[in-house]
Amino acid sequence: MKPPEERNEEIYLKGAPVSEGIAIGIPIFLSYADEDDIPDFPISTGEVEGEIARYRQAILSSREDLKKLQADLAGEGSKEVASIIGTHIEMLDDPLMTTHMEIKIREMLKNTESVFHSVINDYEKRFSETNDSFFNERLSDFRDLSKRVLRNLCDSENISLDNIPPNSIVFAKELIPSDTASLQATRISAFVTQSGGGTSHAALIARAKGIPYVASVNMEILQNAKGKCVIVDGLTGDIIVNPSNITLEKYERLRNRLTKQYQQLEKDKHLAAETLDGYPLTLYANVNTINDIDLVHHHGSRGIGLFRSEYLFMQDPALFFDEERQYLIYHQMLKRSRGLPLTFRALDLGGDKCSDLFEEMAKEPNPVLGCRGIRFLLRRTDIFKTQLRAIIRAGYGYDLRILFPLISDIHEFREVKRIIEEVKGELSLRALNFNNQPLLGCMLEVPSAVLIADALAQESDFLALGTNDLIQYTLGIDRSNPGMSDFYYPTHPGIIRMIKMTILEAKRFQKPVTICGEIASNPLFTPLLIGLGVQNFSCAPRFIPIIKRTVRHLSLLDCCDIAEHVLTLRTSAEIACYLAECLHGSEGQASLKRDAEGI
Ligand code: PEP
Ligand code: MG
Repeated sequence: MKPPEERNEEIYLKGAPVSEGIAIGIPIFLSYADEDDIPDFPISTGEVEGEIARYRQAILSSREDLKKLQADLAGEGSKEVASIIGTHIEMLDDPLMTTHMEIKIREMLKNTESVFHSVINDYEKRFSETNDSFFNERLSDFRDLSKRVLRNLCDSENISLDNIPPNSIVFAKELIPSDTASLQATRISAFVTQSGGGTSHAALIARAKGIPYVASVNMEILQNAKGKCVIVDGLTGDIIVNPSNITLEKYERLRNRLTKQYQQLEKDKHLAAETLDGYPLTLYANVNTINDIDLVHHHGSRGIGLFRSEYLFMQDPALFFDEERQYLIYHQMLKRSRGLPLTFRALDLGGDKCSDLFEEMAKEPNPVLGCRGIRFLLRRTDIFKTQLRAIIRAGYGYDLRILFPLISDIHEFREVKRIIEEVKGELSLRALNFNNQPLLGCMLEVPSAVLIADALAQESDFLALGTNDLIQYTLGIDRSNPGMSDFYYPTHPGIIRMIKMTILEAKRFQKPVTICGEIASNPLFTPLLIGLGVQNFSCAPRFIPIIKRTVRHLSLLDCCDIAEHVLTLRTSAEIACYLAECLHGSEGQASLKRDAEGI
């Protein structure tokens, strides 16, 4: 008997739902040249010319990929990034990439991937020892470029996100944030991965862009899906390979229904975000790219509560050392914000973001507990000060706010303020205009910060609760590990108490608090957060209409009762259950979750 895939039967698989939505498309397998998987074997002198020809072909393919990406980015208005890609194209002609490599293949008599890997490693070793910003810029560019060439070398079937066909469902072992960050240049309808948890940074981007995403799926099994139609249900985690006509029609109906629900929500976007009894809330947006700013206006947000600035740098590492270009980008963003407040978060590097770029965090045993966020910035003040100079220069005449990630001790924030004064002095000497009084805020993402919320509130202008990390660090659970997602409890009583504590301390010192983790975009939490005293929410722009609709169906009085009751509950499960009951009980509740009527 033939195996099911050869009999053209439907195959059902179950993964962990990460970002909701329905996608129907054709799979594309994305793989990375994993350092441990790079083939390494000797070759004979007779094989040298063949290896060199293969190398030249990889360079040619990399050039074509880059040219296509450059054209796509320029077409979308991302001229800055497109020009960086131009630099990468030029670097492909660098003697290191051409003659030197060919000489090395002849000398070392090894396969091309192995020679290329060792040449790039040597180069990195030599230049990472210098703190010269010129070489550091070149180093980051070479790293990015070498990954691309290696991808093209290791497997001619490998496809990068830059050049996939429309309506593709991307299957990958893992997604790295720099790939998801460049998504505007592509046409992806869903992601399916083996690893990557619900609040990993790749997941946040997928949700922000409304791309369905299912994780924890065995890629070996999915190899059978090549060339077949696949349905991905990002809400349930279902993946259906080779669906029957009946299944296909069912999911097409469901997809149309979800689209209509979103369109309906959009209609109310200009209404005020206030409860039935007139209690006003402010809904800000979390943005990751310049183009997201247009979505902020589109979805009716009151400003940007969190701009994750590090995403700009993932596509363009040379930017770390380029104050002028950063200034131009930030200024452009402020202009596009049209007078709405814009909160720049200083670079939050480390953990799963850019951890391969800097020596300070290279090969850490526990990257999320290592040189991340403010810790990195206080060690690399050259990078920190470059960004601060660019931000406060760009913010001249604008409502500028700056937020600092992963603060765990008041002395870190004091050091930040001292550095800002130093930066202002430097700009004055250069006779440049700058915003002399940006509002400065601390991100509360670790328990120690919540426990000193009084001191942080007293010494800063505002606070932001980063609950994605707060849950990770309070419960000691890796937010990127899908295997542990059963233990990632956003409704944990400890987390609810921490939110309450922070709000009370901030109120005592009359400082605003914004909640900007993923729970701000989940209607399940909206009544609880309002009842705990949260007045400012910041979430991905596409969730603003649903949060607004939810708020408009609640009363402050009910929210306070809900919060009071939640504080008496003992387990995450009880709280989750109770909040679900409240949401379903509230008249006209705005949940987009499906009921039995769909499928
Ligand atoms: C958070 O930790 O809640 C947060 C908003 O920051 P990020 O998700 O970028 O780590
Ligand atoms: Mg965080």
